[in-house]
Amino acid sequence: MSHAAEMTMDAVLSVAWERVSANLNQFYGDAIFRSWLKPMVYVSQEEGKLHLGVPTRFMREWINTHYMDEITRIWEQQPESEGYALTIDVTGAPAVISPMTMNIAEQAAERKEAQAAENAENDAQMGAQLDPRYTFENFVVGKPNELAFAAARRVAESAQVVQGCNPLFLYGGVGLGKTHLMHAIAWHIRRESPQRRVMYLSAEKFMYQFIRALRFKEALAFKEHFRSVDVLMIDDVQFIAGKDSTQEEFFHTFNALVDQNKQLIISGDRSPSDLEGIEERVRSRLGWGLVADIHATTYELRLGILQSKIDNLSGTQIPQKVVEFLAHKITSNVRELEGALNRVVAHSTLVGRPITLETTQEVLHDLLRANDRRLSIEDIQKQVAGHYNIKVSDMHSARRSRVVARPRQVAMYLAKKLTSKSLPEIGRKFGGKDHTTVMHAVKRVEELMGSDHEFAQDIELLSRMLQS
Ligand code: ADP
Ligand code: MG
Repeated sequence: MSHAAEMTMDAVLSVAWERVSANLNQFYGDAIFRSWLKPMVYVSQEEGKLHLGVPTRFMREWINTHYMDEITRIWEQQPESEGYALTIDVTGAPAVISPMTMNIAEQAAERKEAQAAENAENDAQMGAQLDPRYTFENFVVGKPNELAFAAARRVAESAQVVQGCNPLFLYGGVGLGKTHLMHAIAWHIRRESPQRRVMYLSAEKFMYQFIRALRFKEALAFKEHFRSVDVLMIDDVQFIAGKDSTQEEFFHTFNALVDQNKQLIISGDRSPSDLEGIEERVRSRLGWGLVADIHATTYELRLGILQSKIDNLSGTQIPQKVVEFLAHKITSNVRELEGALNRVVAHSTLVGRPITLETTQEVLHDLLRANDRRLSIEDIQKQVAGHYNIKVSDMHSARRSRVVARPRQVAMYLAKKLTSKSLPEIGRKFGGKDHTTVMHAVKRVEELMGSDHEFAQDIELLSRMLQS
């Protein structure tokens, strides 16, 4: 091909790209376009390839990950696309991108914009994933989460890596506040020490980006990207169980950061030693620093959380009875507790009626049943039998000896209090007893609780253990 012909092809493709670019602007809107897509410009073409240029490696990675499918789709709609696959290069300063079509002022403006885009990309990458409500101020501290909270605060407030807390490993069941605490750390650092580079992402995203990087042969940029941060947080690490090459990369990233004295914060749904499908060396590294678990909520913590959420819902009146009912019944996790409260409030607002215990039970019908289902009568029988050192089979027997009769009554009482099973249903589970027997048991236990303080405490303890 002659030089002149190439110039012409350049011009043709460059115009075609302008068209695609305008399309992308329409498709994604101004904000995304300006930050990510506008800086991507036509550079050159060769056999079968059309080269686009962006200012930074990270930008290329980001575009490849998030926008490439759509860009390709629009490109392929252009008649000029025939025989040209898109590929993105890192061209550094935007000035070299298309000098022919830009004057000095435009180049300067373009460069400034690319810089802004690069700053925005760091913010966007972080900020987009951070929930503004997940701050330390909005976190209610109680016995089950006080260690995790204290450790998170400590790491957030320290200007450097906290010795003995690297990594900080937070673990606990779903919906108990792991993500909340991690976001809180990120918000705190962003506000108090904005020069520290914080990165938060889920293990899933980590893996996804890693795979993209491999596919686009950018493993090096990927490594650099992660290793340039001061604080790296990876949420839900259990996700990489069984994903060997991701684990491998994670392990290396981890080591590189620890060696450079960078702070790591990892969360998981169980302790490092209990993580299945994760290599031994990775597990042991995860347990190197401080391992802080978040326990299941207690009644007191649930009350506190509800109270704090209600305080934020300015103006909504919620009877204390309803609050206590929710704290008592929605024991699964904080996310469901919040959801329940929101539903009750939304319902009351919609129908324009005050919140009562009755409406609450009605609105949360399905949720209450689901929470009950989690605690079965069998669970209660097992726990109570264990507590009083009798056999579970004694729960079903007709023996009247006090040694077994009293625990059986306690189990019936707890079944009535902690599940929504009816009296006949409960009776059936205790070896086919009559519902009046259950009713009698409930009454008897209540009486005893009123007169025998120690007994009452015992029941309270049992009930708490069953709910956690
Ligand atoms: P996890 O990541 O452990 O599954 P999240 O952090 O997503 O749980 O928490 C679930 C929901 O419960 C979030 O809306 C969070 O704000 C809320 N939450 C959890 N623990 C607390 C707490 N101690 N105080 C206030 N809100 C909490
Ligand atoms: Mg989470």
